[in-house]
Amino acid sequence: MHDDRELVESRLKRVLDERIRPAVYPVSVPLEVAVWHAPGEPVPVAEGLAASPSPIAVGAEWGAPWATCWFTVKGTVPAEWAGRTVEAILDLGFDQNMPGFQCEGLVYLPDGTPVKGLNPRNQWVRVGAPVAGGERVELRIEAAANPVILDYHPFLPTTLGDKETAGSAPQYRLARMDLAVFDETVWQLVIDLEVAGELMMELPADSGRRWELMRAIGRALDAVDLQDVNGTAATARAELTGVLAAPATPSAHRISAVGHAHIDSAWLWPLRETVRKVARTASNMTALLADEPEFVFAMSQAQQWAWIKEHRPEVWAKVTKAVAGGRFVPTGGMWVESDTNMPGSEAMARQFVHGKRFFIDEFGVDNEEVWLPDTFGFAAGLPQIIKAAGSKRLLTQKISWSRTNSFPHHTFLWEGLDGTRIFTHFPPVDTYNCSMSGKEIAHAARNFKDKGVARHSLAPTGWGDGGGGTTREMVAKAARLRDLEGSATVTWETPAAFFAKAEAEYPHPPVWVGELYLELHRATLTSQAKTKQGNRRSESLLREAELWAATAAVRTGAPYPYERLDRIWKTVLLHQFHDILPGSSIAWVHREAEQTYAAVAAELTEIIAGAQRALAGDGSAGGRLVFNAAPHARNGVPAGGAAPAAPAPGVRRSERDGGGFVLEDDLLRVEIDGRGLIVSAYDRAAGRESLPPGQPANLLQLHQDFPNMWDAWDVDEFYRNTVVDLTEADEVTAGDAPGSVRITRSFGASRVGQVLTLTGGRIDIRTEVDWHETEKFLKLAFPLDVRAERYASESQYGHVHRATHTNTSWEAAKFEACNHKFVHLEEPGWGVAVVTDSTYGHDVTRAVREDGGTTTTLRVSLLRAPRFPDPETDQGRHTFTHALLPGATIGDAVREGWFVNLPEREVPGDAEVAPLVTVDDDAVVITAVKLADDGSGDVVVRFHESRGGRARARVRPGFAATGVAVTDLLERPLDGTTAPELTDGSVAVSLRPFELVTLRFGR
Ligand SMILES: [Zn+2]
Repeated sequence: MHDDRELVESRLKRVLDERIRPAVYPVSVPLEVAVWHAPGEPVPVAEGLAASPSPIAVGAEWGAPWATCWFTVKGTVPAEWAGRTVEAILDLGFDQNMPGFQCEGLVYLPDGTPVKGLNPRNQWVRVGAPVAGGERVELRIEAAANPVILDYHPFLPTTLGDKETAGSAPQYRLARMDLAVFDETVWQLVIDLEVAGELMMELPADSGRRWELMRAIGRALDAVDLQDVNGTAATARAELTGVLAAPATPSAHRISAVGHAHIDSAWLWPLRETVRKVARTASNMTALLADEPEFVFAMSQAQQWAWIKEHRPEVWAKVTKAVAGGRFVPTGGMWVESDTNMPGSEAMARQFVHGKRFFIDEFGVDNEEVWLPDTFGFAAGLPQIIKAAGSKRLLTQKISWSRTNSFPHHTFLWEGLDGTRIFTHFPPVDTYNCSMSGKEIAHAARNFKDKGVARHSLAPTGWGDGGGGTTREMVAKAARLRDLEGSATVTWETPAAFFAKAEAEYPHPPVWVGELYLELHRATLTSQAKTKQGNRRSESLLREAELWAATAAVRTGAPYPYERLDRIWKTVLLHQFHDILPGSSIAWVHREAEQTYAAVAAELTEIIAGAQRALAGDGSAGGRLVFNAAPHARNGVPAGGAAPAAPAPGVRRSERDGGGFVLEDDLLRVEIDGRGLIVSAYDRAAGRESLPPGQPANLLQLHQDFPNMWDAWDVDEFYRNTVVDLTEADEVTAGDAPGSVRITRSFGASRVGQVLTLTGGRIDIRTEVDWHETEKFLKLAFPLDVRAERYASESQYGHVHRATHTNTSWEAAKFEACNHKFVHLEEPGWGVAVVTDSTYGHDVTRAVREDGGTTTTLRVSLLRAPRFPDPETDQGRHTFTHALLPGATIGDAVREGWFVNLPEREVPGDAEVAPLVTVDDDAVVITAVKLADDGSGDVVVRFHESRGGRARARVRPGFAATGVAVTDLLERPLDGTTAPELTDGSVAVSLRPFELVTLRFGR
């Protein structure tokens, strides 16, 4: 036979587009439309419903950026439609291609009952099936004129990302507001043809099945009378019955479809809009669940559930009912789908504490799955935290976005830095917005790397990012793909059901050790510096607030601020969402984040001050005390206690020959030259110079930084090809403190002021930048005379090692990586560290010199200046503190990292404070001391081995403990754990490398 494939394929496309799809709604009548423009920010639903609208015509413009308009639509079902299925078609002016990235609406009945959300792929509201004719129809639409930020010319700077700069030009034009007859047979024919056609296109040209599908499609199109599509659709469908009934082969890939709407808790919209996005999507999904008995929908992020509960009780009522029905499934176990690179140890733990507790409290659901489809890489500390939270499985598809290397598994065990292994699945469909297209389903089956030993994968199905969720079309396609020859099979399932099958069929999956590094979006470790500093500062203040408030509660009976700490933790956790902390949101989000962090800092500072006053008194006897919230003793003040501080060690400053200054104490001799660069850092004890000859440290380096796309997210490797060393100083003078030097520099439109201070063998570098650059990357470089194959970066409850070389593409791809409080590198017997109070991004490179030595250069990333999505990213003043620690062991790096993040607080006070809990081994770091969240008054202590070795230690409560238990992160006693014993008022513990332990002391 002749090969006429292309003819049939083109025919299918044209007839579907131009004749069959338009016939789904064969007749329609216009609705009467009126509108009320809400002034300013969104109003409560009752206010929107009660407002008096004015008439508006279809075709009229509406909606200033970020404005809300309440539409009223009214009409009468024509009598001649009796017996037909009728729907309202409500097109706010949608562009078909961007659900969640443009205007949206939520439809209500006049009494305020939510009906469903409106988006470009979901414009209909069912009026009746069948109608009697003559019914009055009245609906209200809360329509949000969210502007398009990421459009067809992506990544161009726009002022639309903040209401304060977005202007007032209408963004949309009302497109269609009709009542229409819905011809379900034609709609089913569309789905039949789409499923058959899309499958056909994925099959090999020499596959008999492809030709069978093509011939059946040809016959179906022959059967369609183009002048009477509605009258002939049933006949056309009959031509496809046979090919759509052929069952899948026994070896077919098995897809568990999970209805989903990945909703970014803030991104190209502010937090307040996400509250409404979630309500719209949840309304859509409760409506779809009611219509589709097999459909299953999963929603993650406890924060989003909490928003519905707090702000949309009428939607919450529908959601809780659907959850009880078992097919609207709370999934994941985190407060938000956070970044996992940057959150500190305790914050990462609390994501799980608050996320899991919400689902347990509201629904009695204790999830074992962690749901992070879109997070930008996964720190090696995460597996231990997942397990300690009582979970054991992880899902993400994000690593498929890596640009360099293809990850070798889709289902595997992920081993974290302490050895904990988590059963992990990467959906091979490579998206969290699966639409059930033939292309996606075939890609999942082809792409699945564990073929032959495993057969199941998961497909998160529904419009996401900006929400929307699953559509009836996706459900209809899934029904046809349940068991279809040539395709993978598709079954709606819960995440838990999928994981149970995947685990059962694959008892010995391969193992991936260490971080899941995303080879993309590396600049998210640096963009929006103030958001990152706000996070780090909040984490430190929360530690202090819990520690001092718990100490005050136990020692003085002062009330413990349970409610305030719970609320503040949730605020900080929310801002760790994977587009807020990474700095990839619009200006509005980051402007608000800065204000929120300031309020958090003020409230926590007040809690800390109150607790310290309760403990130390008001200083009326004239005393002054230093509170040390760090996990190690400092200047004579015990860890977690307060005492008068010992005098600081002496430092000498002298003029340097040739300009600059020399700073010296008993440990170091540091030379700062006339350019303000550190040209020597001599470790007296080791008798060794830290810096390579002729390569100064404290060198600011400025790079051009214009990535090919995703400006706030990405730094592309070629940024290193050009660099300007900022060696010119305006001024280098003696600083105020005896061991300090002050430096000022100007470059471009920006200025930098630095104060370098030698203190106890540590060179502190305080950098103030008034930053006014565009598309530049500012780094602070420390070339070091060290030959090391690898370096250590702190992560949650431990550290990870990365190579200093680029032997493989995997190592080369890690050209920008994450650290928490320190980066450390060493040769046997001598090491060096840089600690930081707020930066996360860094890079380490190496060069072998002519003298045979090796220069290993550690550079911390200070600032970027991308112009999308926030055109003014990082403009203005910033302050950073770093410190260089020549001669540092890994233990020194851990300790000094804490010190630089938890400055001592000197306050008036006379009563020294003994620590509430002590541990007698410096390798064991206490990360949290707090009262139990259940209000019992029990004291909870969390600690971990911090150096990567073994530790035996005694943990001693500084109060009369009545008992002790090992618990999970949610402070629940762990089953099967040997009960620890309190002997002589302390507990002996023995820790594996990086092992974290939570103890709960009764009292
Ligand atoms: Zn996302």
